[in-house]
Amino acid sequence: MNQNQSKKVALITGASRGIGREIALTLGKTGDYKIIVNYLSSVESANKVVDEIKSSGSEAIAIQANVSEKDEIQKLVNESISAFGKIDVLVNNAGITRDNLLIRMTESEWTDVLKTNFEGVIVLTEAVLTHMTSQKSGKIINITSTVGVHGNAGQANYAAAKSALISYTKIKARELMPFIRVNAIAPGLVKTDMTSKFDLGKLSETKLGRAADPKDIAECTLWLAGSGGDYVTGQIIEIDGGLFLWSDVEALAH
Ligand code: NAP
Repeated sequence: MNQNQSKKVALITGASRGIGREIALTLGKTGDYKIIVNYLSSVESANKVVDEIKSSGSEAIAIQANVSEKDEIQKLVNESISAFGKIDVLVNNAGITRDNLLIRMTESEWTDVLKTNFEGVIVLTEAVLTHMTSQKSGKIINITSTVGVHGNAGQANYAAAKSALISYTKIKARELMPFIRVNAIAPGLVKTDMTSKFDLGKLSETKLGRAADPKDIAECTLWLAGSGGDYVTGQIIEIDGGLFLWSDVEALAH
C-alpha cells in the first residue's frame, strides 16, 4: 500500500466555521487524513479551511450540502466517495440553535433544530455506514452538547435533539460492534459564532476560569479518530471545563 492509499478519509460536517473548522484543520495538519470540509453557505470560509490544510501538505476538498435535507446528504456522500474512494471518519458536527422559552417555541424552531441536529445526523450516518460496513472499519464522532446531558432553559428543541443524539450514539455503538466505533463529545460553552450572544467572560468565575476554545474539542476528536480511540465506543465525553461539577465542601463554606 502506498502512502497516499494508507491515509484515512475524514468527513466533517459544518467545517467552515467554529468547532468543525478547528477539527478539520487539526486532523488535516497531522498529515494522516484527507479531509472533506462540508458547509452550508460559507463558501469562502470553507475554501480557506481547504487551502490551509493543503498548504500543510494534505489533501482536502469542500462540499456544499445542507445536512438537514435527504437528497443533499446523499449528494455529499456520493461526492465524498467519488473524490477519495472511502470514508473512515465521520464527524457529525453541523448544528444550529433557535432558542426560545418552551411556551413560546414555534413549530419551525422545533423542526429546524431537530432536522439539522438530529434527523440529518441519522440520515448521513446511515448513508456513510453503507461504505464503512463493507470496509469493516470506521469511526463516527457525534458532537452533542452538555445541554443534551443536563438541559437548559430556553433550549428545549436543542436539548431534545442533542439528548436524542446521545441515545443514538449509545445504540449505534452497540449495533455496530466490533468493527465500527461510535462516540460523542459533549462540549460546554465554546467560543464560536454560536455563543457570540453570551457573555463568556463570566466563565472566568468558574473553576477553570475560561470558556472552551474550539481546539479543546478538536484535540479530543483527533484522539478518538486515531488509534487512541480504538478501544473506546459508546462513550459521551463531556468537555466543559468542569462547568457542572459541584464542590460540596467549598459550597458549604462561609
Ligand atoms: P457555528 O460556529 O455556528 O458553526 C456552525 C457550522 O455548521 C458552520 O460551519 C455552518 O455552515 C454549519 N451548518 C449549520 N447548519 C448546517 C446545515 N444544515 N448543513 C451543513 N452545515 C451546516 O457552530 P459551533 O459553535 O462551531 O458548533 C458546532 C457543533 O458543536 C454544533 O453541533 C453545536 O450544537 C455543538 N456545540 C457547540 C457549543 C458551543 O458552545 N459553541 C457547545 C456545545 C455543542 P455555514 O458556515 O456554511 O453556515
